[in-house]
Amino acid sequence: MSDVTVLGLGSMGAALAQAFLKAGHAVTVWNRSAVKTQPLVAAGAMGAASLADALRASPLVVICVHDYAATRALLEAPAAQAALAGRTVVQLSSGTPQEARALDPWVTAAGAVYIDGAILGGPYKIGLPDCVILCSGPTAAFERHAAVLRALAGDLRLVGDNIGVAAALDLAWLSMLFGMFGGVAHGARLCRSEGIGGDLYSSVFPNAPQAAWTADVIERDAFANPGATLSVWRAALALIQRQATDAGINTEVPDFAAGLLDRAIKAGHGEEHVAAIVKILE
Ligand code: NAP
Repeated sequence: MSDVTVLGLGSMGAALAQAFLKAGHAVTVWNRSAVKTQPLVAAGAMGAASLADALRASPLVVICVHDYAATRALLEAPAAQAALAGRTVVQLSSGTPQEARALDPWVTAAGAVYIDGAILGGPYKIGLPDCVILCSGPTAAFERHAAVLRALAGDLRLVGDNIGVAAALDLAWLSMLFGMFGGVAHGARLCRSEGIGGDLYSSVFPNAPQAAWTADVIERDAFANPGATLSVWRAALALIQRQATDAGINTEVPDFAAGLLDRAIKAGHGEEHVAAIVKILE
């Protein structure tokens, strides 16, 4: 037996597994493409021979794959479903509140406890004191596993037993960031048109580190090899648009941001930093 199983070893899942190992926990890992388990096994994790073995290996199972559909596809396999009984499943893939509400009863019916979580930051944040991870679900299960989960984030919070709240807060936080990206990109253009340098521009918002970082990327023309690409941000924006449609609220703001990102992707900037939207604001 291990303390925790991590399913999904993309850039985020691998960072999660590494943080558990660094904290001294016994970790089992599994990924659809087996090759991604190798660096983790070399670092001390146990590689499971099958998904069902991975599920059975630990009382706590953390899932971080592309989206909820991928999670569901994995867990629906009969062998996996049978292995879920008695586990606590923490879903850290990004999704909408509606997707969390749909997955919760399905996992519960399989005999497991479901906690829906959201990571407010990139893989480089995992394990740091200021990394924020929000969780929604039953308090008793959260408290039972909090000591292990705290290896991932200094700021690990249970935001209530309403299962949709973590996903909703994640999307609201991302919505704030999309407003910031567009605003900083336009501000950078504005400053350039008036002959003002990037350092002077950033100096007027000393208490907004994410905005300063975005302005710095633009100033240094440092759009290559981002932690999350513009296309990945576009996928997150699609979740915000979907939540708005699900909830019947106005979609103008996310639709406006989506228009900018879609034009940037069409212009060939999909693999660049999201601040590359500045390139289409000529
Ligand atoms: P990634 O590097 O693209 O990895 C995607 C992972 O999902 C891989 O392990 C992939 O397996 C797996 N996967 C995709 N489709 C699958 C399927 N149908 N069945 C089984 N496995 C499947 O993405 P990531 O950056 O790790 O992101 C993972 C999740 O974390 C996403 O929901 C993302 O929104 C969320 N997140 C990411 C960040 C970030 O900055 N990266 C920040 C916050 C939240 P293969 O290796 O076999 O393809």
